[in-house]
Amino acid sequence: MSIAENIDLVKANLPAQVQLIAVSKTKPIEMLVEAYRHGQRAFGENKVQELVGKFEALPKDIEWHFIGHMQTNKVKYIAPFIHLIHGVDSFKLLKTINTEAKKIDRIIPCLLQFHIAEEETKFGFSLAEVEEMLKSDEFKLLDHVKISGVMGMATYTDDENQIHKEFACLKTYFDQLKLGYFANKTEFKEISMGMSGDYLIAIEEGSTMVRIGSTIFGERNYNSET
Ligand SMILES: *Cc1c(COP(=O)(O)O)cnc(C)c1O
Repeated sequence: MSIAENIDLVKANLPAQVQLIAVSKTKPIEMLVEAYRHGQRAFGENKVQELVGKFEALPKDIEWHFIGHMQTNKVKYIAPFIHLIHGVDSFKLLKTINTEAKKIDRIIPCLLQFHIAEEETKFGFSLAEVEEMLKSDEFKLLDHVKISGVMGMATYTDDENQIHKEFACLKTYFDQLKLGYFANKTEFKEISMGMSGDYLIAIEEGSTMVRIGSTIFGERNYNSET
């Protein structure tokens, strides 16, 4: 199956309000070009250096999404062009993004990443941590970031009930934050959840953005990933 056919198959499963982020990490430029020629404009990457290289090589109407764990010292490299940073998992990182955005007179859209999985290793805030941040005076001074919603990853498991539960949990966090802190902010609207193995469940639980890699581009070579 071609990349174009894979995109069509995934898209056939997506309701109109759900955006497809094609996760192209580790994949060569030619594969992104094929997806681009088929009309795909939103791509997700998780390494800064790789993302910058692809940004430079490809057409400028692409929306680049950063979906990985972001190190504060690398924010400056993507600040000029990044469309959405999905994995904001600390106040420190948010403050750094604000500082870098201010230097270049941009407002950078960000999603707050929550820890919803059982696994210890996955990054993310707890709800209490986010509420503490949102209530702080320091947060209210950040005028070069825009909080556009939430992001999370479910446990890697065959247990569909558990995946349902974890995505439902992220949806309740979104609803609570919307009500308590972003009621009059129309830009707070995204729930980024769902990957190749679990995106249908994520959609049932209210996802607005799915991040899909291997179903579109094929399995990644994990030897070359860190
Ligand atoms: C790699 C990755 C994806 C895509 O994973 P697939 O299983 O290949 O669809 C989605 N989200 C994040 C955060 C990722 O790192």
